[in-house]
Amino acid sequence: MLNLSRASHQGSYGQVQTIYCAYFENCTKMAPNVADANGVLFESDAATPDLALATTPVQKADNNPKQLVWRNIILFAYLHLAALYGGYLFLFSAKWQTDIFAYILYVMSGLGITAGAHRLWAHKSYKAKWPLRLILIIFNTMAFQDSAIDWARDHRMHHKYSETDADPHNATRGFFFSHIGWLLVRKHPELKKKGKGLDLSDLYADPILRFQKKYYLLLMPIACFILPTVIPVYCWSESWINAFFVAALFRYTFILNVTWLVNSAAHKWGDKPYDKNIKPSQNISVSVFALGEGFHNYHHTFPWDYKTAELGNNRLNFTTNFINFFAKLGWAYDMKTVSDEIVKNRVERTGDGSHHLWGWGDKDHSKEEVDAAIRINPKDD
Ligand SMILES: [Zn+2]
Ligand SMILES: [Zn+2]
Repeated sequence: MLNLSRASHQGSYGQVQTIYCAYFENCTKMAPNVADANGVLFESDAATPDLALATTPVQKADNNPKQLVWRNIILFAYLHLAALYGGYLFLFSAKWQTDIFAYILYVMSGLGITAGAHRLWAHKSYKAKWPLRLILIIFNTMAFQDSAIDWARDHRMHHKYSETDADPHNATRGFFFSHIGWLLVRKHPELKKKGKGLDLSDLYADPILRFQKKYYLLLMPIACFILPTVIPVYCWSESWINAFFVAALFRYTFILNVTWLVNSAAHKWGDKPYDKNIKPSQNISVSVFALGEGFHNYHHTFPWDYKTAELGNNRLNFTTNFINFFAKLGWAYDMKTVSDEIVKNRVERTGDGSHHLWGWGDKDHSKEEVDAAIRINPKDD
């Protein structure tokens, strides 16, 4: 694959565009529906040297037809009531071992979504050897957000047709719809229609992913509900009630809502330093809970970057540190990222002006600003 980041270092702007255009023509032949996309999904979709589409993204929503799915409404209502009870037990009744166990399960199932379904399978932003893919598919099954193949399919639609009716959780339809409402109504016809053109061959080529999808209804209850309930009871004599409501239902509902906040809150509140034409925003609070997934303006601008953020954000980016750890073992490799130069060009062209410094003396900190700052007891050493 053509590496635009590297190409941009080697040649002038014009050269990059020429290389890219030749490649893009090829791409449009391979993927005819790229023309109606409303966001880049893979690097190959980009049509400008700073990796954007040729057209400015639009936002559109058709609130009808809206057919309610009562089975899901009842299940989610029960789940949230049970999770509230679980939250109460977490604070006032469960043993400390159960609380720590629930926290560990939260991190593990969270990574199954962030490092697994999201960065590895939906975006192909890095590659993983089979032992890491096996760990991630176990974590992913614990999270019960559908099989990784189905999750990645929905997520590719979310980026490619972002904020239109073919986006499963189109944030243009409001906070509630993008948070949980999209799971309580039938899919929009536009999503079903355009979804057929999506290429998922890379996902179906992985036997680990095929196995999870095939046996999902057997594996998911064991990983998400049964083992999290049985382990506390047999290992540290927790009560069945505490184990089930805290380690299974409260933990599961908590991570669900954290994931949904990326679709709702991070599509609504925060700065847009990379692209002001889209709703996704930099939301630090979401990032803290979602293990580094709240730097959402960056992520929708450069979705194939395995960090989902600029380097400076790593301390809040647990998922990036997790991938980097496995890269040291050699189990994660071929991590894609975007050069500083391209990021800078994009910030200048489409950012909202909020791209900020990471701290005093940052390389972008202008001399005028340094000179103008008031310093108390200054000492340069
Ligand atoms: Zn998004
Ligand atoms: Zn994404």
